[in-house]
Amino acid sequence: MTSVTLENVMKFYIPAVGAGDTKPVTGLENISMFIQDGETISIVGPSGCGKSTLLKAIAGLESINSGRILYNKVDVTRISPQGRGVGMVFQDYALYPSKEGEDNLSYYFEVRKKTEEEKQQRLRETADMMGIGFELLMGRQVDTLSGGEKQRVGIARCIVREPNVFLMDEPISNLDAKLRERTRTEIKKLLKKFGITTIYVTHDQQEAIFMGDRIAVMRSGRLEQFGTFDDLYYSPANLFVASLIGTPPINILPAIIQNGVVSLPDSQFNVALPPDQERSFPSGSVRLGVRPESWTVSQRSGQGIPMKVIHVERLYTERAAFVNGQLGGAVINALVGLDFPENVSQVYLLPDWSQTHVFASDSETALVSPGAPALF
Ligand code: ADP
Ligand code: MG
Repeated sequence: MTSVTLENVMKFYIPAVGAGDTKPVTGLENISMFIQDGETISIVGPSGCGKSTLLKAIAGLESINSGRILYNKVDVTRISPQGRGVGMVFQDYALYPSKEGEDNLSYYFEVRKKTEEEKQQRLRETADMMGIGFELLMGRQVDTLSGGEKQRVGIARCIVREPNVFLMDEPISNLDAKLRERTRTEIKKLLKKFGITTIYVTHDQQEAIFMGDRIAVMRSGRLEQFGTFDDLYYSPANLFVASLIGTPPINILPAIIQNGVVSLPDSQFNVALPPDQERSFPSGSVRLGVRPESWTVSQRSGQGIPMKVIHVERLYTERAAFVNGQLGGAVINALVGLDFPENVSQVYLLPDWSQTHVFASDSETALVSPGAPALF
């Protein structure tokens, strides 16, 4: 039962002597967050943004320059990884390849000098938790296992140790797409069963959304936003978060708002805001953000901003399609029904103003966000 608190955590890397540039590299910039006991959170962001550094700092594998890390309100900043009791699963399997699955698990008991009885008991509990078929994996030599199977053994090896906190760094990014989907479902089920506080790192936004109760978005060592999917999707802190979360991504259009009229200089189109929306929109030069599902798409001229269709992508399993086209300087995606006809070369789009985001034109700041829709 462990909560994790980060208070103003800073980490710099000092380049090695003779490495040319001697300026310190920012690893983590003033990160503060609170992770509740039993919660699974995802950390997502582009390569090099500091995800692994953050995970290693939480584990104690990397020292920090300032700030504090607490487990259950107890300061562990200077405590070793062993003392913190963390379990880590990495992208590389880090198993002992020539050993059998079971030996990989029981190595810990040998180091800790546990009795044979304690060891067998805990191995049985772990195998039970890992579910059907796991006993078989334990009997096999690691270098004969598939990537997905190796990660199951890797996870079991952590669970055997009854960690306070479970840390996973891109554990399935080495697997091919199909296996990745299956494995992430399985990991999620296991995490539910374990109930251990888990921090899951990935560079894939869809995986982050799938795994995390909450999602932390990072960029250049900074925490851009930490919240639920609804927070990030409907109330993004800035343009970076808005663009990262969502497939296809949010559409961005430069616009000028004046006296309740929105002008899109790119497509020489003017449209009046409905009176009930007028007051919530700022005046001046902005960027509109419209999600693919927030357009009304018409084939009738005069029903909105004209867009030349490039192609229509049909998602048969979703019973939906995306119309992809050129609107001024931007490539736009709009959600339509699967029955959208072939050979339509021009459509007319209008944003649902109540679902439209507004960002500053000269910074990434969010000026207007729709907020999560009420479901009932
Ligand atoms: P991510 O896991 O998000 O891809 P990392 O946490 O590995 O990113 O790296 C964050 C930044 O810190 C990068 O700019 C990286 O080059 C730098 N970095 C990471 N580890 C070291 C190190 N041991 N020495 C110097 N710079 C490092
Ligand atoms: Mg990494």
